Parts: sequence; C-alpha cells; structure tokens
Amino acid sequence: MGLSPVWRLRSNQEEQEQKSGNIALMDWAQLKAKVADCTDCKLRAGCSQTVFGVGDQKAQWLLVGEAPGSEEDRLGEPFVGQAGKLLDNMLAAVSLGRGNNVYIANVLKCRPPGNRNPEPGEVAQCSPHLLRQIELIQPKLILAMGRFAAQTLLGTDATIASLRGKVHQYAGVPLIVTYHPAYLLRTLPDKAKAWADLVFARKTIAE
Ligand code: URA
Repeated sequence: MGLSPVWRLRSNQEEQEQKSGNIALMDWAQLKAKVADCTDCKLRAGCSQTVFGVGDQKAQWLLVGEAPGSEEDRLGEPFVGQAGKLLDNMLAAVSLGRGNNVYIANVLKCRPPGNRNPEPGEVAQCSPHLLRQIELIQPKLILAMGRFAAQTLLGTDATIASLRGKVHQYAGVPLIVTYHPAYLLRTLPDKAKAWADLVFARKTIAE
C-alpha cells in the first residue's frame, strides 16, 4: 500500500529539508557540480544547460536576477542577452563589471520554457543553491533585480515599487531592490529610477 497523501507530503518536505541542509555545507566545487548535475525539478529536462553564475567569488556586489533566458541557456552565463547588455552598461557607469568586484547569479539555474515565470515549487527547489552562493561570497551588498529575486530573498510578496529606496537585510547583508533589466527595456521611463537605485546602492556600500 502506498503512503497516504499526508505522509507523502511530509516525506517530500523532509527530503527537501535534507537536500537544502546538504547544499548549505557545500564548497564552490561541490555546489557547481551539484547544480550542473541537478534534476531536482522538471526544468533541467527542458533546458540546454544550467547557468550557475559568473564573476568574482570574493565580490562585494552580488547581483541577483530571476532565471536564464534563451541566450543565457545557450551560452551558460547569466545576463548575456539584451537585458544583460543594459546591465553591463549600467555597471560600467559606476566603474563596475562582471568579474570586477561583481558576482551575478539567478534565483533559478535553469531556463523556464518560453521564459515563463518561475513556479513556487521551482523557486523552493532551486533557491538553496543561491543561498549557498551568498554564504560563500559573503558580499557587502546584494542588489535584487526584479520581483522574483526580491521576493525570494526577503520572503515577501510585496511589490518592487514598495521595496525600492530602502536598505533591507538578507542574513545580515544589506539588500537593495531594483527593477529587472528586462523590465527596463520595456519601460524606458523607469530607467532613471533604476539608475537612482544603483547610485543608492553605491552610497550604501561605501558607508
Ligand atoms: N534575466 C534574468 O533574470 N537572468 C538572466 O540571466 C537573464 C535574463
């Protein structure tokens, strides 16, 4: 006889907690290998490769996005499409760049089909990888770009508009919320707000 639904739920939860516990003890090499081989959710079956993250593992700045898109899936690096070009330009304007005191990662390491929004179960399965990246990097500041990064790290369903302009904390690390670069490509007037967020982040990190 199979497990009753309640027990199945409980054993799924225990399995998830055990997985997260293991991930929380991994070093960089173990974490990279875990992500590369991950089949914890259905996304891996539909993407070309995992996209772990890029940059300086001792960076003071950690930028967090949502999930790989088609270019990222093709090249194995976060933010290499149009949104990434905008991000690179914005970083250059404050004398930063990927690998130059910056690390860039996503909440999800696999591309959701058709660039759909991440599902809650996918975020729950994948976010322990990001949380371990944060522990290993020990950044001085996290810039959460877009709703999924902000809501995952802050454990809230508040809007970007209500979260901007404040210094939040993730595990003792100052966290600033800004718009996702892909949103800025569609909503040019908000570029000035994102620029203000970056300047605010630079001021916060210098304090
Ligand atoms: N959007 C994201 O959130 N991450 C990427 O890596 C690319 C686009």
